[in-house]
Amino acid sequence: MTQYDYDLFVIGGGSGGVRAGRVAASLGKRVAVAEEYRFGGTCVIRGCVPKKLFVYASQFPEHFEVAAGYGWTVGERSFDWKTLIANKDREIARLEGLYRKGLENAGATIIESRAVLEDSHTIRLEKDGRTVTAQTILIATGGHPSLHPALPGHEHCITSDEAFHLTELPKSIAIVGGGYIGVEFANIFHGLGVETTLIYRGKEILGRFDKDLRTALHVEMEAKGITILCKEIFTKIDRRADGRLEAHTNADRTLIVDQVMLAIGRQPNTAGLGLDKAGVKTGPKGEIFVDEYSRTNIENVYAVGDVTDRVQLTPVAIHEAMCFVDTVYRGKPTTPDHDAVATAVFSQPELGTVGLSEEDAAEQYDELEIYKATFRPMRHTLSGRLEKMVMKLVVDAASRRVVGAHVLGVDAGEMAQLLGIAVKAKLTKEDFDATMAVHPTAAEELVTMYQPSYRVKNGQQVA
Ligand code: NDP
Repeated sequence: MTQYDYDLFVIGGGSGGVRAGRVAASLGKRVAVAEEYRFGGTCVIRGCVPKKLFVYASQFPEHFEVAAGYGWTVGERSFDWKTLIANKDREIARLEGLYRKGLENAGATIIESRAVLEDSHTIRLEKDGRTVTAQTILIATGGHPSLHPALPGHEHCITSDEAFHLTELPKSIAIVGGGYIGVEFANIFHGLGVETTLIYRGKEILGRFDKDLRTALHVEMEAKGITILCKEIFTKIDRRADGRLEAHTNADRTLIVDQVMLAIGRQPNTAGLGLDKAGVKTGPKGEIFVDEYSRTNIENVYAVGDVTDRVQLTPVAIHEAMCFVDTVYRGKPTTPDHDAVATAVFSQPELGTVGLSEEDAAEQYDELEIYKATFRPMRHTLSGRLEKMVMKLVVDAASRRVVGAHVLGVDAGEMAQLLGIAVKAKLTKEDFDATMAVHPTAAEELVTMYQPSYRVKNGQQVA
């Protein structure tokens, strides 16, 4: 009999922590999972899930517009923010219940308390001051939105956390940051009728994505009426007497808006966690350093998910958790695979991608073939909308492998999931060509681009 209270103590009841706790418990391990707030973590409580529900809500005005081209007359319409929030909260509560039930059914102990490390085997539960011990500790505490203390007036700003619970829908908003969250929320708020400005310090939004897709998305967002200010930053935010915000930029511009939202990245949740007491090493952002098996510098302490600041995506945290269980409890040491992770930005239009952008591929391969199609999807032929779809395949000319696949347009996220299989399986352009098209679909374009649009040799575009 082990001298510890638990075989595994998981700190953090989000995607990574719950998965590891549930599976380890189902293998017969004595597991406790501590969560100080709500089970489900960022993804379920204030991230992916409520965000996607907001995305659906914000798409209706466009659906109504498209409907007219198909002969429908849509009557008077109105939107009630409070109804959306209430329905979203009900769904989140349902999902939270499922997370708890999954743990309970597997035999894990749920602890509703903040848990901090006393040493590498001892955990203090702040709710009642009790200490418990565990043979193995898994830290899966996630992250939180970065604040911006250097910006005068930053205390007037909200982050995505607050955006999910605003009591009123603002009439106007300025969003700082050109990454996933900034771009998604700019589209959400705009779709809900909010006058929206996105301000980004760099040259082009979504800097890490393929250039053709991000520039095409930029064009589409502006065409809808979203103002995008690139190479600009806020220098000061003032609260006016009427409660609105006055946001000043370095280009001598002043925006008067109801809300300013910061979407400037996320920080690992490690402050006050007792990592120093346990001797666990962290990096400059507070991220926990781990090896390829998600093990920290302390032998029995592991960490998965956003707290390690590797790839901040829910499916990645879950995958890391499963690899942890395989390594520690199934005798099958497994390293998480962070290569060719398919992902989507739920902008409008959506952006789905897997593998390398043209720019990144050009740095890795001597010669590339680029296949690109820009077209108006059939859905919009009767709607009168001019919105274009973009599809792009990046092919290593030597091996013929498709090393990057990128889609901008309706359902691009769904397509990215399936393209992810092909790219992960290292399929060649000839495999794509040999695949019969599904007609009529937008996705058929991915298997009918027979001639390269251009080649890239040693980083230079050639005919
Ligand atoms: P991102 O890292 O995607 O983007 C952060 C943005 O903020 C960048 O444009 C960055 O600019 C800018 N920025 C950073 N610091 C400052 C600053 N001091 N002043 C002005 N701008 C600044 O982070 P997000 O917050 O958008 O999202 C966090 C993570 O959450 C993402 O990395 C993603 O992994 C995950 N996520 C995934 C989603 C999905 O899968 N659909 C949806 C939402 C989030 P620069 O480029 O110049 O550094």
